[in-house]
Amino acid sequence: MKNLTGQNFIGQSKSSNGTTIFHAENPENKHPLEPLFYEATTNEIHTAIEKADQAFSIYKNKSGLEKAKFLETIADEILALGDTLIQRACAETGLPVGRITGERGRTMNQLKLFASVLKDGSWVDARIDKAQPDRQPFPKVDIRSMNRPLGPVGIFGASNFPLAFSVAGGDTASALAAGCTIIVKGHPAHPGTSELVGSAISNAVTKCDMPDGTFSMVHGASYDVGMAIVNHPLIQAIGFTGSFKGGKAIHDAARSRPQPIPVYAEMGSTNPVFILPGAIAKRGDDIAAGLAHSVTLGVGQFCTNPGLVIHQDAEAASNFRSSLEEKISQIPAETMLTKSVCNAYNKGVENLKHHVGVKAKSSGIENNNGYRGTPQLLQVDSQYFHDNKKLEEEVFGPSTLLVAAPNKSEMLKIASQLDGHLTATLIGESDEIKEYADLIDILERKVGRLIINGYPTGVEVCHAMVHGGPYPATTDSRSTSVGTRAITRFARPICYQNFPEELLPEELKSDNPLSIKRLEV
Ligand code: NAP
Repeated sequence: MKNLTGQNFIGQSKSSNGTTIFHAENPENKHPLEPLFYEATTNEIHTAIEKADQAFSIYKNKSGLEKAKFLETIADEILALGDTLIQRACAETGLPVGRITGERGRTMNQLKLFASVLKDGSWVDARIDKAQPDRQPFPKVDIRSMNRPLGPVGIFGASNFPLAFSVAGGDTASALAAGCTIIVKGHPAHPGTSELVGSAISNAVTKCDMPDGTFSMVHGASYDVGMAIVNHPLIQAIGFTGSFKGGKAIHDAARSRPQPIPVYAEMGSTNPVFILPGAIAKRGDDIAAGLAHSVTLGVGQFCTNPGLVIHQDAEAASNFRSSLEEKISQIPAETMLTKSVCNAYNKGVENLKHHVGVKAKSSGIENNNGYRGTPQLLQVDSQYFHDNKKLEEEVFGPSTLLVAAPNKSEMLKIASQLDGHLTATLIGESDEIKEYADLIDILERKVGRLIINGYPTGVEVCHAMVHGGPYPATTDSRSTSVGTRAITRFARPICYQNFPEELLPEELKSDNPLSIKRLEV
C-alpha cells in the first residue's frame, strides 16, 4: 500500500534504523501484505521515551480545553483516513467491513467522550480544606488536592480490536485525557492499521500544537520491544489489553523494576453465564439462540465471549442442550484474526476434548481456506468441572463449555469457586431471580460487570461502564479500561499545603475560575 512506510513514530520523526523486519498477513487467504515493517531498535525506543518525558512537562500543563480539542482532532483525522483505513484493517484482521466501520465509530466516540470529560473538568476530584488559623487547640493549615497525570505511559493493544483497543483505543484516549504522554507498542498482527492511525495522531499533534513526543509508536514482532518500554525508568504506568500470558509477563516485569509501576492489564475471561431453571423451562429455545449467537459473534474473538454456561439439569434442560447443539452445529467456521490465534483456539479445544468428562459437538460446516475457527459446544457435569480447575480458563474463539449442575446449591458452589472474570450473567424469570440474590452476592465478588437477562458481548462506552474485574481477568480490579472512569488510572492525587493562590493549579484556586464541581470545607 503506497502510503505506508513500515517506519516507527519516534515523536514526530519517522525512523527505521533496525534490521529486523516483518510483514502483516491476510488471515483470509494467508497472503503476505506489503510493506515490510521495521522493528524498533533499543535506541529508537529510548529516544521515543526520552521525548515523551520532555513533552510531558509541557503537555500536562495544557488546559482541559486544549487537550479536549486534541482528542477531537485525533477522531477527525481517523475519519479522514477514509476507506484506506477500513480496507487495511479488514485485510489485516479478516474482520468484515461492517464490523471495522462500527469499530471506527466506537473509537472516535470514545475520544470525543473523554474530550467531554475534559471540557467539564470535574474529573480531577478537587478537594479544598480551607485554613482555620483560629482553630483550637491547633490552627488548621490550607490543604487542597486534585488528580494530576502520572508521566509517560506505555500502551499495548490487542489483536481483536485493531482500532478500539489499539493505537488510538481506550487506553490511549484515557492516558492522553489524563495528561500523560504515550508510547504505543503497535500490535504485529495489524501494523499497517497501526501506522495509519499513528499518522492520524501525529497530524493532530501538529495541528493542535502539542509538543514533539506527546505520541510515539514503535513496531515490534518480538517481546523485546514491549519489554524495553516496560523496563525503561522514565515510564510511569502501563496500559495493556491482550492475553493472560502477555499481561502477566508485563505485570511481573513492571513489579520487578527498581521502581515498580502500575500495570493496568485487561486480560482474557470466560464470562460465566448462569441460566435458572424457570427460564430454561419457559424459553429454552430462545436462550439457546441468543447464546449460540453470542458465543460465535466475531468468531468468538471477544474478551466478553460467554465461554462457560452453568445450568441446572432437568427435563427442560435436555431440550435446551439439544437446541443449543443444533444451533451451534449450523454456524460455519469463519476466519480468525491470525495464525497463532487460530492455532491457540484449536489447541485449547483439543485440550478440553482430552478430558474424559467432556462431551463435544462441533459445527458441521467446515471451511479449510485461511485460518478458520470451527464453533464448538463442550459439555461437562458439575462434579467433573469442580475436579478440573483448568476447565475454567479462556479458550479464545467460538466455543463454550456447558456445565450441568444437579441443583441450586451446586450452582452456588460453582460460583463461589470461580476465579475473577470480566462479567457474569444471570438469565432467569423475574420471580426466580429474586430467589437467587445469594448467587448475585457471590458473583459481585468475582466480576466487574453483572448482567441480567442479556449477553456479555457488546461493551457500551459510557460513563458508568466497568470493564475490569478481579485477577486473573485484570491485574488491578479497582479500575476499568472502558468508559470515562478509566482516566483515573493514569493520574494520582497530589496535595498542595499552604500554597499561595498564584501557585495553585486553576482547578484549586479559591474563586473556582473553571467552575468545576469541588468538595470544599
Ligand atoms: P497478546 O498475544 O497478549 O498480545 C497483546 C500485546 O502484548 C501484543 O503487542 C504482544 O506483542 C504483547 N505481548 C504478549 N505477550 C508478551 C510478553 N510475554 N512480553 C511482552 N509483550 C507481550 O493478545 P492478543 O492475541 O493480541 O489478544 C487476544 C487476547 O486479548 C484474548 O485473550 C482476549 O480475551 C484478550 N482481550 C482482552 C480484552 C479486555 O478488555 N480484557 C479486550 C480485548 C482482548 P507480540 O504480539 O509481539 O507478542
